Amino acid sequence: MKLQSDNNSSDDNDSPKYSICPNCKDKFPSNSFASHTIECYRNSSKCKVCGEIVKKSYKKAHLELWRSKQKVKEVIQKDNDIEIIKILDHGLNPNFKFDEENYSIMN
Ligand SMILES: [Zn+2]
Ligand SMILES: [Zn+2]
Repeated sequence: MKLQSDNNSSDDNDSPKYSICPNCKDKFPSNSFASHTIECYRNSSKCKVCGEIVKKSYKKAHLELWRSKQKVKEVIQKDNDIEIIKILDHGLNPNFKFDEENYSIMN
């Protein structure tokens, strides 16, 4: 008598295992995890303002995202003082205003 369990177990063998990078919180297959983590720490830095891990090449984009009209508008509408300060700390010009909609941070 032969047990036919071979088919079931062979499938699991090549499904890759993943680990979460502690730096960027992304998921990586275990075989490239170590090299990614080293690269990741080397190429990214923690934003001093919001604590987010930002790749060095995305630093500018990160700041621009925070200073975008959409973000500023969102925060002003929520009337969230802490977020407004964060936006200013990301380098927003305090005189920034929405010409067309009369939103202003300094009220
Ligand atoms: Zn990473
Ligand atoms: Zn930030």
